[in-house]
Amino acid sequence: MPNPVFSSLPTSIFQHMTVLALKHDAINLGQGFPDQDGPISLREVAARQLIDGPNQYPPSKGLLVLRQAVAAHGAKFYGLDYDPEDEVLITSGGTEAITGALMAMAGVGDEVVMIEPTYDSYRPMAEAAGAVVKAIQLGPPHWRLTEQALRAVITPKTKAILINSPHNPAGRVFSREELDVLTRVVTGTNIVVICDEVYEHLVFDGRAYIPLASLQGMRERVLRIGSAGKIFSLTGWKVGWVTGPRELVSVVTKAHQFLTFTTSPALQLGVAHGLTHEMDFTLALTARLQKNRDVLSAGLSKLGFEVQPCEGTYFLTAGITKLTNEKDFAFCERLIREAGVALIPLSSFFQSGTPDTFVRFAFCKQQYLIEQSLDRLNTYFAKT
Ligand code: GLN
Repeated sequence: MPNPVFSSLPTSIFQHMTVLALKHDAINLGQGFPDQDGPISLREVAARQLIDGPNQYPPSKGLLVLRQAVAAHGAKFYGLDYDPEDEVLITSGGTEAITGALMAMAGVGDEVVMIEPTYDSYRPMAEAAGAVVKAIQLGPPHWRLTEQALRAVITPKTKAILINSPHNPAGRVFSREELDVLTRVVTGTNIVVICDEVYEHLVFDGRAYIPLASLQGMRERVLRIGSAGKIFSLTGWKVGWVTGPRELVSVVTKAHQFLTFTTSPALQLGVAHGLTHEMDFTLALTARLQKNRDVLSAGLSKLGFEVQPCEGTYFLTAGITKLTNEKDFAFCERLIREAGVALIPLSSFFQSGTPDTFVRFAFCKQQYLIEQSLDRLNTYFAKT
């Protein structure tokens, strides 16, 4: 018998909607990937390395030059202090980093707290490791994390809390008050907090991003995860990292050595170059995304979507009850087929007790595509 954790899973919603979008020639505001590749200089450095070599296994924990660049990035932006020698681990993308961190922190019978809506890979990977997932549900429009909700799921068996901020799909950036709540709840316990911070730079309206690891007393219990794909609009590169105290990172490193062992040396060098020389690209990207968010939310509001606040990430969520009686999934499939715009139903990010009247729009595209999508939706809803 195959493992039911995986055999019972549908194909990922992102893949499903992208395949349908291609079939119906729809604009893909579903799967979150930019339509323009990031800086040429990263690609040139990587290409040169591919040609010149060597192309053999780099060290399992990553090339030193990239580990140094990741440590310097954390120090420069947030004053975080990690030793590149053994407190930085390079992984094949943020998703591998999350899986490695989950496997390293929680085994059979241990409990892991997750915050729904949750990214689709989190739950199955924790369950495949034998852990039990305890979910807290956040609700629209504020998607706020409360002390009461957190305390209600913590037990003596809780080994880890997995938190994503800026949050996909809610577009939330957890506030200082919410991070303080989390800090209060875990202080005095042995709980480790795994922070998926892959959208750390994509934060809007002049907000400062505060990593949980930078709060008093938290460095020692936080595994902080980052991703070059999101920082440099190179999502297909799958280069990510984990930083944290050496006692925890060393265990994630053991999981990583058997998950992927290592990551393409050419791509690692490209990313090291980017973190050192191309952070202006990321700041400009954030400004472009903020503009897209504004164009999209204004257009959607006019159409009757109930647009929710969006503080960061690639994503905007909106309620659909003024437009349809359908559930989110059916609505999304209809829009792909009939309006030529692909979205993601929010119910895919919940296990149970699901709000099923919300959709997610990815706005990490050129502005003209956002405008074209709005035109298509306008034309479609004018007819129906
Ligand atoms: N992170 C992307 C999203 O949320 C999806 C990546 C994937 O398809 N695995 O849209």
